Formats: sequence, structure tokens, C-alpha cells
Amino acid sequence: MKIGLEVHVALPTKSKLFCSCSMEESEYPNLNICPICMGFPGSKPMLNETAVKSALGIANALHCDVNRKISFVRKVYFYPDLPKCYQITQMDDSIGREGYLELENKKIRIRRVQIEEDPAQIVRQGMLTLLDFNRSGTPLVEIVTEPDINTEEELREFIANLRSILYYLGVDINREMKADLNISLAETRVEVKNVTGIKSLIEATRFEVERQSEAIKNNEKIERETRGYNEKSRVTESMREKETDEEYGYIYESDLGTFDISEMEYVEPVYITNVSDELARGSGVNPKTIKEITMLNRDALAMIYKFKEKYSMKSILHGIQRFEKYSNKSMKTEDAVKIERIIRLVDEGKDISREAAEKIIAGEEVNIQYSNVTKMEIEALIEKFVAENPGILEEYKRNKKTINLIIKEISYKNNMHPKDVSDAANAVLNRIS
Ligand SMILES: [Zn+2]
Repeated sequence: MKIGLEVHVALPTKSKLFCSCSMEESEYPNLNICPICMGFPGSKPMLNETAVKSALGIANALHCDVNRKISFVRKVYFYPDLPKCYQITQMDDSIGREGYLELENKKIRIRRVQIEEDPAQIVRQGMLTLLDFNRSGTPLVEIVTEPDINTEEELREFIANLRSILYYLGVDINREMKADLNISLAETRVEVKNVTGIKSLIEATRFEVERQSEAIKNNEKIERETRGYNEKSRVTESMREKETDEEYGYIYESDLGTFDISEMEYVEPVYITNVSDELARGSGVNPKTIKEITMLNRDALAMIYKFKEKYSMKSILHGIQRFEKYSNKSMKTEDAVKIERIIRLVDEGKDISREAAEKIIAGEEVNIQYSNVTKMEIEALIEKFVAENPGILEEYKRNKKTINLIIKEISYKNNMHPKDVSDAANAVLNRIS
């Protein structure tokens, strides 16, 4: 199976790509519009520098060869959402080409990174077809991969890593990601257009793989075509025969001309996989845990850097996880004081109950004092527990982690230090087994 993707992402700008209309969400249709983004004859586009800088940061983060000089083309076609009859996009002089995105075990080659404008939005109401030009001229970056994705896991990993890279470059990843999919199981490539959102992307892939395998099994011919994804019925449907690039008729966009971007500054990327590996080194912590916490949370990453000399990595991650679990939200910088209180307690070896964590999150004082007991007293409690639960010894022989169950039972209920309980439990169980 070979999958190639064309991912479209909106660039973080205040105004549109070729005019000064606002990019802010509008309550009403056709509010943020002007002759340029409505494609009136005689209107001339002006290029938004912020959009170019942002796209340049993305091309650089994807290890692309960056073109010093960029230009634009008109992709000519007729559709109601595009009254000027062409979309301004890039071809040969696109901002980046021949890069890659790294997965755990392979690289997915990036063919091209290009800037383009979004057309208007078509709204269907009964018999009516309405047009909303608020979206027209939204700056997009299109990231085109080679067909290097071979499994659903790789597709998921690609999307996750791409989202993380984009997030750290300041792209709003909460806006839905749109993608075109190219899937081929045999010779013929089928395109699935305009899939919105990651869930639909995975589902459309699954459906198409199944459809094509079935056709191959039955010796049917797979048509080279463009299909659409129907979110309701979760199937792909034939749309039209696939156009080739030649059929579009690209023309050089002379209203914009050529731009030299060799001196342009851009944001450096953060590769969270590498960062996590580095932070985990020598700490006894699985880098995947760090990656999970920080992938889409720069505040969490900043907190780890802030505390890493002061507390163990294990305690820091544990503290952040506790906070997120009990507060039911991802952590933000303003939670630093509360999280540090949790981290400090964890670092001191104190086991924090849900109740204590919730108190800290609510800003209340928590004083965790352990009962003053001797080793003998703890061992006596454990012996009693083992006598009451005879199965536990066999369980322990099979799996040493059973000890955690005893720690939970004894230390929480009797307010004893978990480390003391753990030592005593090991001593008792080894003695009697
Ligand atoms: Zn405009």
C-alpha cells in the first residue's frame, strides 16, 4: 500500500494572503471581503509577508531545499467558489521542495511545500447555492508528500508529528486540517479529495484500502479517478475523472512577480521526539512519556526545563500527569505554582491521593504527614493482610508488581510512607515465600 498526502493548513496571519481583509472569525457571511478576495476584474493582489515567513518556517522544519526566489501561478479552472476563474498557487518556484519528515523508523519524503489561497465557501440551502467570501483568500500552506506512507500506523504517526511541528511554529492546529489522499494498492492511483479532520482521514483511508483490495481480489479494474469522502455514510464516492496537471493550464502570476526571500527570517522548529530523547537521557524515564505530555503543549515543555535541575524527571512528569488528570485540563504556565507543589511532594516520596491533589489544585493547603510507626508494626500489618488474602503470595511469585497492590492498601489506609511499606512488604513476602 502506498499513501501520499496533500495537507492544507491555514497559516497564522491577521489578514488574508493577497489583501488586507481580516482573518478573524466573522459572525456573518461576506463581511471580511474586498474586490481582491472577491476576484473583481482589475483588482491586484499584494503578498502578505507574514504568511511567507510562516510557510518558510514550515519548509525549513520539513528539511526542504528552500527557494531563494519564489513566484506564483494561476491554476485556471471554473468553479462557483472562484469567480476570477483561477486560484493563485505555486508550482516550480514554490517555497520548498525535496524535504522529509522523520518518523520513528523511517523518513517520509516531502515533495513540495507551497503557498496558496483558499477559495470561497459554498453553502447549500435547499435549492440555493450560496457563497461566503469570508474564507476566500485565506493563506494556506500545502504540504505534498511522496507516496511513502505504507501503513495506517505510519499515517497516524506522520499526522501527529506534523501537527506537533506546526504547533511549535505557531500554527493554530485547532483549525481543521484538510487533506487530499492518494492511495494505490496496485498500479492505479486513486485520489480522495477534501477530507476534513484526522478522524475522517483515517476512516477514508481504511475504506479506500478495503475497496481497492476487494476489487483486486475480484479481478476488477481500479479506475484512475478522484473520489470524495462522505462523512455521514463513511464511504468514498466517485466524483469525476482525475484531471492531469496539464489540463489545468497554469499561467505565471504576473501581478505578483518574483520575490527574493533569501534574507527572510523565520521561526526555528522544535522536534519533540528529539527533545524528549534528550530530556529522558539518564533519567530512567521513557522518552515517549515526555513526548506525550509536551507534543502539543509548550507550557509543559517550559515547565520541564524550569524544574529539571531541581527535581527528578520522574517526579516532574508524575506531577504534571497528576495535575492534568485531576484538574481535567492540560497544564498552562499559570498553573506552575500548584504543579510545583505536587511535584515537590512526589519528589519527597510522598504518595498523593486524589483528594490531596484536588486540594492543591483548588489552592488549599495540604499537609501530608505520615504516621510514626516502626518497621515491625508495618510488617505486622502486612502479615495480617497476606493472611487475609491468601492468593496474594502466589500472585507475587508470578508478578513482583503485585507489591503495588499491597502498598496501595496499607500505605493509603494507614497513612504510611509508601517506600517504608514497599520495603516491609518485600521483606515479608520473601520471608514466607
Ligand atoms: Zn479582501
